[in-house]
Amino acid sequence: MTDVVYGYDDAAGGWWVPPLSNLHGHLRAPGDPRFPIAVHSAATQFRYYTAMPNLGAKDLIRSPEGALAYSHAIAHEAAQYGTAFTPIVPLYLEPDTTPETVERGFKEGAWISAKLYSKGATTASAEGVDFRKLEELFPVFKMMERLGMVLLIHLEPVAYPSGIEIDPWHRERKGLAYLEKILSVFGGLPVVFEHVSSQEGIEKIRERQNRHSPIEATIAPQYLVWTRAELLRGGMNPAKYSIPVLKKEEDRRALVDFLLDGGGFLGSDSAPHLLFAKSQPCGCAGGVFNDPVAVSVYFDTFRREGEAHGITDWFDRFVDFACRKGPEFYSLSEPEGRVLIKEEAWEVPNTYGSGKDLIIPMYAGETVPYKVVV
Ligand SMILES: [Zn+2]
Repeated sequence: MTDVVYGYDDAAGGWWVPPLSNLHGHLRAPGDPRFPIAVHSAATQFRYYTAMPNLGAKDLIRSPEGALAYSHAIAHEAAQYGTAFTPIVPLYLEPDTTPETVERGFKEGAWISAKLYSKGATTASAEGVDFRKLEELFPVFKMMERLGMVLLIHLEPVAYPSGIEIDPWHRERKGLAYLEKILSVFGGLPVVFEHVSSQEGIEKIRERQNRHSPIEATIAPQYLVWTRAELLRGGMNPAKYSIPVLKKEEDRRALVDFLLDGGGFLGSDSAPHLLFAKSQPCGCAGGVFNDPVAVSVYFDTFRREGEAHGITDWFDRFVDFACRKGPEFYSLSEPEGRVLIKEEAWEVPNTYGSGKDLIIPMYAGETVPYKVVV
């Protein structure tokens, strides 16, 4: 067998890379009009894909049977594309989740990770955990540590212990004390800081990585290229509103530097919402459907920023970020083969879907420089 070759290929007009994996995305529930659109984008680009379990109050992934059924539904929908696509479905942690359930699901092959949502922080998080009562979940964390499972955290508490609400721009920062508590008590539990968006969050991860804590982060593409100014540019732009909310230039810069230094792995937090949910004058949904352009944003960031900073091995760093580190952190087998990141500008559609079931993607109507060819 000849070795697979990666890197730039003149004849192919792009870069060969190992299969890409996305360890954070929202594919929505089977039957939802967003489901086929989200699965199409995911299955035609990625090998492993963490399909988040917050499917709506009635359909949370809270049992091994639920996780397996969801996995099968995704795989069935994806089969038409003929790609090797493996959904990874985490357990949704609730205050009353038991270590026995966690263990049973793990042993039955239903899950290898669990997602901790701060109660009330984001879409379908009402059944999540009030961080002020985090200790109630400690027996669950202990079981996960013993099994070698991965804990995924949406780290945004919504209230101080006094009950006073935390400013949305400060939530991630205020969650760091809870993260510290988990890392201190469960030193062997692999933790993913999901969609890190703040300079303080990056500093905490760096500090803990320097002390060899098993912590990593996913970085969603919009936080690498947008700041909160983008939300208000030319008027309010709900299509660009996601949770955590976009932050300042200093935060964006800290994320890019972390990425270039070899931090984090690919998790786009792609979160499609239908147009009507994005068109509410009040109560507009948070989330950006970014899967169609995510790889282009990551690759462009590594290449452009890497070249600007004299990082000659930016391509290898991209490969680590987008192909290797995520599966490795989850203890998944390394995918074989290669895919092409073609250097070919294309115009992102204004919407995906049809009829009234429309979704506005990231960079709608704009031109992006790269596309994935599987
Ligand atoms: Zn998410």
